Amino acid sequence: MTTIPPGATIGILGSGQLGRMLGVAAAQIGYRIHVFAPESGPANDISSAFTRAGFHEADELAAFARACDVVTYEFENVPLAALSAIADKVPVRPGLKALEVAQVRHVEKAFVRDLGGRTAPFATVDSLDELVAALEIIGTPAILKTVSLGYDGKGQARIDDPAQAAEAWEAVKGQPSILEGFVTFSHEFSIILARAPDGSTTSYPPPWNQHRSGILHLSSIPAPAEIASQWTEAAALAGRVAEALDYVGVIALEFFATADGPVFNEMAPRVHNSGHWTIEGAETSQFENHIRAICGLPLGSTAPTALRVEMENLIGDDATRWADYLAEPGAHLHLYGKHEIRPGRKMGHVTRLER
Ligand code: AMP
Repeated sequence: MTTIPPGATIGILGSGQLGRMLGVAAAQIGYRIHVFAPESGPANDISSAFTRAGFHEADELAAFARACDVVTYEFENVPLAALSAIADKVPVRPGLKALEVAQVRHVEKAFVRDLGGRTAPFATVDSLDELVAALEIIGTPAILKTVSLGYDGKGQARIDDPAQAAEAWEAVKGQPSILEGFVTFSHEFSIILARAPDGSTTSYPPPWNQHRSGILHLSSIPAPAEIASQWTEAAALAGRVAEALDYVGVIALEFFATADGPVFNEMAPRVHNSGHWTIEGAETSQFENHIRAICGLPLGSTAPTALRVEMENLIGDDATRWADYLAEPGAHLHLYGKHEIRPGRKMGHVTRLER
């Protein structure tokens, strides 16, 4: 692959905070950013060009593709048709295959299992009758998750007793779903791995991820021993997944640390919230490594810059305390510039370093 040198234009599909942080990293090493999204958001606030159009608008997509030297995406629910429409005009990285797999929960789990990963037992369910039948096989407790478009615990219902089947089916609005056995775990962690076009990879020390109300609250390194002992196996699996997808860029795999070893939960074919700590906490951030990878530049060091690093998400009203975070020694504040605070909305994050 020819290198896409600084000065070139990187297209980003999506206008959220991940696009914004990718844009900041790209700008630092001399790239221009062109955002394509149906809605204005945190990313186009900092981009040099913005196409506000729907993902089905063929002419707008074609013009965007012509204006960019490489295109990436910052969320995994970009319609596949939009990517297919531009893939013959401009390199799209990571490619379509990663999206095809990551957009369908059971396809993703089966893909990872075929590569030797452990997953919770699961069954696809398309009706209440199928849910009742699946509960007999998988047992309780179990979690019903929509096949697509679920994130931050949305589109999920926990079932502790088979009598709750109808209620759970209603909670997911009767959408195609999977029923997943409940995993007993001590910790949650993630592997954030970057893969270059030549197949070389590098990954970050795995953060311990702690959630509140289904939303990531804290990611911290170094991870406790229960996670550290599972790092090698999980990172090797992430490498196999990236290779099988012929992946270029940063990919994130989420795991449960269990007594039997790492159990894969889900993947994101993009930079990930549990990697935000790398902006100040690693030699090269996940955002810069994604940009380096998609432009064919050498990947940067993932070594930590501090003894301890902790990233805390600022959700909803947390963001109003920005002055406190600014005053805190060793704390680095990031706000995403969202105009409206809503409960459960990711407004920013703060990273604390202990040197
Ligand atoms: P997800 O959207 O799949 O990442 O799920 C959100 C959160 O729900 C996870 O981070 C876990 O804390 C919890 N969770 C999801 N699936 C399971 C499972 N099979 N067993 C236990 N906890 C789970």
